[in-house]
Amino acid sequence: MYLRAIKKSLELYREENIELFTQLQVAQQKYQSITGAMSVKINEQEYTLEQAANFLKDTDRSVRQNAWETIQQRRLADKDELNVLFDELIAMRHKVALNAGFENYRDYMFQALGRFDYDVKDCYDFAVAIEKEVVPVLKEQAEKRQVALGLTALRPWDMEVSTTGKPMLKPFNNGQELIDKSISCFAAINPSLGEKLSIMKANGLFDVESRMGKAPGGYNYPLAETGAPFIFMNSANSLRDLTTMVHEGGHAIHTFLTANLELNDFKHCPSEVAELASMSMELISMDNWDVYFDNEEDLVRAKKEQLADVLKTLPWVAVIDQFQHWIYTNPNHNAADRETAFKQIYTLFGAGFADWTDFEQQFGNLWQKQLHLFEVPFYYIEYAIAQLGAIAVWKNYKENPEKALEQYLAALALGYTKPMNEIYETAGIKFDFSADYVRQLANFVKDELNKLG
Ligand SMILES: [Zn+2]
Repeated sequence: MYLRAIKKSLELYREENIELFTQLQVAQQKYQSITGAMSVKINEQEYTLEQAANFLKDTDRSVRQNAWETIQQRRLADKDELNVLFDELIAMRHKVALNAGFENYRDYMFQALGRFDYDVKDCYDFAVAIEKEVVPVLKEQAEKRQVALGLTALRPWDMEVSTTGKPMLKPFNNGQELIDKSISCFAAINPSLGEKLSIMKANGLFDVESRMGKAPGGYNYPLAETGAPFIFMNSANSLRDLTTMVHEGGHAIHTFLTANLELNDFKHCPSEVAELASMSMELISMDNWDVYFDNEEDLVRAKKEQLADVLKTLPWVAVIDQFQHWIYTNPNHNAADRETAFKQIYTLFGAGFADWTDFEQQFGNLWQKQLHLFEVPFYYIEYAIAQLGAIAVWKNYKENPEKALEQYLAALALGYTKPMNEIYETAGIKFDFSADYVRQLANFVKDELNKLG
């Protein structure tokens, strides 16, 4: 695997791209500073966008609408600046591709990302499978939501609120509690997993709370010298933050399990593998989410919201992926064309299943919140591949927890010393994203959702 990657890098290497890579890195940083500085005032109080998003779960519809519009307004204020930045990035990336002898940046990136196990056509087919097999399930869920909320139309601010009529779930009250509860949760899956998070806590390897001016996002960062992981996130005490924590916790376990591999490159897994580790953990950990909730009702609600999110990931990934295919195979487009293309693609995948009347601008600008487009181009389809894999791991776990966990950990311990499909097989699952497989797994999640009532 290592030599294959080295050969590929040599093939792609061009002296004249070095300077461009430096410029790209500097320009990409601007996205973080622009979006990291975004905050909004609601009821005379200043909130980060992460914190403000909690208002979208408020049971009072006017509170939700006001928060949603305020957040969108804030994003639109920097729309042009981000469009100019994005135009610059696209132009530079296109040049990198031409320098390396490719027709476009898409084809270049498929090589540069080391996609040896699937191609452009697989991505298009996968998108069609998601459109056909997952979008209808989510449409059905949205219709149920509309009825439950008693609305004539679901608006963009109606998508996050609980249909139980209850306020948002609060799985923990602050960063410290999130860390402690997550240690208990992991320990309940397997004591060795809990120990690993405890080591992180003892060494100050968590920065979890949202605060003004903090860079957005959440991730696990492996520290090369010590071999320990570091978890960075922007928690605002919501269920989403619980999910982020167990997700990053999965990455952290991966970091620990690969720390002793011979070469550093063996530890750097492609995302299809890395995200399998994290997304599987989101689902596996669900059996032990009782540590975050003191009553059954909240626990069931949390699981339902999580499972609905699992399915929702797939169309959004398809949108961002297909959008990037469009962007880089049409390098001469302008900001208006881009917005039109985004709207068309998003509509194909359900447009979030909301009615966007009167909010055309906000609708067309949604892509700007996706940091991957700016900072890690073409890194996105991996989430859908890994999400499918994670559902399959969880299916195994439901049938035989001990065996499934053993296989999962064995796959993680391989790092990137085997081809992708072998790693998936070690985890006890298929490396497959055919329509058939998508349907099977989507139905499995749907059944599990129905079991929860
Ligand atoms: Zn991840």
